[in-house]
Amino acid sequence: MTRIKDQVRPGIEEIQPYVPGITDDELRKMYGLKRVVKLNANENALGPSPKAIAAIQEELTALHHYPDGSSELVRQAIAAYHTLQLENVLVGNGSDEIIKLLSETFLNPGDEVVSPKPSFSQYGFGAAIMGANVIQVPLNEDFSYDVQRLLEAVTERTKMLYLCTPNNPTGTILTASQADWLLSRLPKHVVVVMDLAYNDYSVANKRFVEYPELFQDPRVVVLHTFSKLYGLAGLRVGYGLAHTELWEFVNRVREPFNVNRVAQRAAVAALKDESHRRRSQEHVRQSREFFSEAARGLGIGLTPTEANFALLNVRNAKRVTDLLMEHGVMVRAGFGLEDQIRVTFGTEDENQAWLEVMQHVLAAV
Ligand SMILES: *Cc1c(COP(=O)(O)O)cnc(C)c1O
Repeated sequence: MTRIKDQVRPGIEEIQPYVPGITDDELRKMYGLKRVVKLNANENALGPSPKAIAAIQEELTALHHYPDGSSELVRQAIAAYHTLQLENVLVGNGSDEIIKLLSETFLNPGDEVVSPKPSFSQYGFGAAIMGANVIQVPLNEDFSYDVQRLLEAVTERTKMLYLCTPNNPTGTILTASQADWLLSRLPKHVVVVMDLAYNDYSVANKRFVEYPELFQDPRVVVLHTFSKLYGLAGLRVGYGLAHTELWEFVNRVREPFNVNRVAQRAAVAALKDESHRRRSQEHVRQSREFFSEAARGLGIGLTPTEANFALLNVRNAKRVTDLLMEHGVMVRAGFGLEDQIRVTFGTEDENQAWLEVMQHVLAAV
């Protein structure tokens, strides 16, 4: 009898399937909890834009129709927002999909993909499914970027370089001058993917800023998502900005109806909701102060963050995370870091609940 295993493409067996964490519902049942505070996925504590919710409701009666396969209205809105052309924009089923599409477009088995460490796990996933090798370049001890080291990791075989700013899970940024330094030295055969999932939360004056001229360089791709600032993680919509020529190839591997109707409508509405965006940014600013104050009070270190989450130093992070969960507070440990937990900023109430449980848990371990 043929074994399925023998029919599978080389390398697939080595990929670890994505293991979703326990859901808030499962946790509630497991410990008989009344309330679960979900601070483990960098979601927007304020929820979706009310304008997006209204647009979604209006769209429901049209769900028997296929979506616009080119996501034209969303791309128009995004192009106007960034002062770019329609052709510079590609919309995806989350920016996760765009990472996969870029990997499928560019990577051959044996190619190399350079990424910071620790950083977002999807970069490695995209490489793995194509049989490419990920070269992870450690950030500095304080989790700032070491651009010299990143450049040194680039070889003849390097096809893609990922830069995530602010970086997930550290919250640290690639500065504008570091980005310029790298872009001016990188060989032409490297596609640079700048993942700006959290950039709209960043207030540092040295942060990387996308300027329209950037996209005259066909090697550069910038990724954005509606999952964080816009509070639409459950709908799955993200976008990429790049030179037209690059998208012409990526569009050949994209599924015809990759972004559903509801997501398209919601994205257009959310982008226009200036008030929700402002409130979300303001909430994150206030939460940053709360968390640095809380860390000081708890006597633990915190990496200064430009995102909507904080990386906190705690010994035995895995154990602390488990204990927090038992008390109904979900945070994340892992990322190859043994003594750090990542905590997403919640509502004022949720942040306070986290602090109380954290005091209790730290006293117990
Ligand atoms: C959350 C996140 C994304 C967004 O992914 P979506 O697929 O758009 O939900 C992208 N990059 C990073 C670094 C993230 O943390």
